[in-house]
Amino acid sequence: MRQPFLTSRLQGMGTTIFAEMSALAVRTGAINLGQGFPDVDGPAEVAEAAIAAIRGGHNQYPPGTGTTELRHAIAAHQRRFWGLAFDPDAEVLVTAGATEAITAALMALCEVGDEVVALEPTYDSYAAAAAMAGATLRGVTLEPPDFRLDVDALAARISDRTRLLLVNSPHNPTGTVLNDGELAAIAELCVERDLLAVTDEVYEHIVFDGEHRPLASYPGMADRTVTVSSAGKTFSFTGWKVGWACGSPALVAAVRTAKQFLTYVNGAPFQPAVAVGLGLHDGYFAGLRDDLRAKRDLLCKGLEAAGFGVYPPQATYFVTADIRPLVGEADADGLAFCRTLPERCGVVAVPNAVFYADPARGRHLVRFAFCKRIDVLEEAAGRLARAGAG
Ligand code: PMP
Ligand code: GLN
Repeated sequence: MRQPFLTSRLQGMGTTIFAEMSALAVRTGAINLGQGFPDVDGPAEVAEAAIAAIRGGHNQYPPGTGTTELRHAIAAHQRRFWGLAFDPDAEVLVTAGATEAITAALMALCEVGDEVVALEPTYDSYAAAAAMAGATLRGVTLEPPDFRLDVDALAARISDRTRLLLVNSPHNPTGTVLNDGELAAIAELCVERDLLAVTDEVYEHIVFDGEHRPLASYPGMADRTVTVSSAGKTFSFTGWKVGWACGSPALVAAVRTAKQFLTYVNGAPFQPAVAVGLGLHDGYFAGLRDDLRAKRDLLCKGLEAAGFGVYPPQATYFVTADIRPLVGEADADGLAFCRTLPERCGVVAVPNAVFYADPARGRHLVRFAFCKRIDVLEEAAGRLARAGAG
């Protein structure tokens, strides 16, 4: 059969590494520190609200832009935490997770042949989303040990074909939180080169060191930014897939045009539940962060004791580790390391090479998720240390 252009481009990107590594964990019974999902559910009152919504008959198609209640809750959350003002009727769109918001935004805002610039290592859906929009992803690499943004490298990456910057902060997989200077420089570049921005802020509430600031709050950015986030990480319900895009009426209308033919609408009973979550007291959000900070510290210590080079993250669910101290420079192949780690010590991780356009750049790096119970992390750390991991 003739391979259509898009199919062959997407197949060239392979199966998602997250699915491969989760299947490996299931097959081998290993502790899954690969794909980022918590092993305990989120707040009971949020779960109860979804159950009540199902029992209460909220089971048919909700409005395509999202329920009024949830759009108001998203706007109130943006104002409460980040001082951003969005009109819930014209400037907020509910989506199937951040993934759909990003894909729909790229489809809506890019012309065929455009370029999208993103921070590399790059979350895996970005290159595929760009391809589905007929655009090409260009990375600007965050280099270890600090994984900071090189603003000159970013400026050099922007060409006449660049349409938008896709900015993920807090950043998966490095845990970098862009600081004020970096965000201000990105904003200046967007204004100067007349670019749009799509932000991926799904870890907005999981910041341990530093401070999250939305790019949309910078001068000149309000009307050129689509701000994306989702409920998955903030409420530990990654399987619910409720996300959102916020921005000017024109940008949100464009994203809606793509979204309405991708999924049409999203899970009716989850929407009132996420609205309850967004309205939880400050202590909930601080508790989530503090809990994950302790888990970060525990896993980083465990990885150090096992002999990895460790890059403690400022944020997110993930820590990046260097396998070279364990296996040596010549054998530092993260993909092979991750494929055999379950056999050797019953732990699953993800090779960072998959997040780079040139996999050689991240060859020696692997990512471990710490959004797991303390006893699970302790067991994993023990296994890694006993096996000498390498
Ligand atoms: N962006 C990043 C950086 C992620 O880590 C993830 C995984 N949660 C997503 C987007 C996807 O989010 P969602 O499940 O809401 O689609
Ligand atoms: N965001 C999660 C991760 O980075 C899950 C990704 C996925 O399953 N597509 O692990």
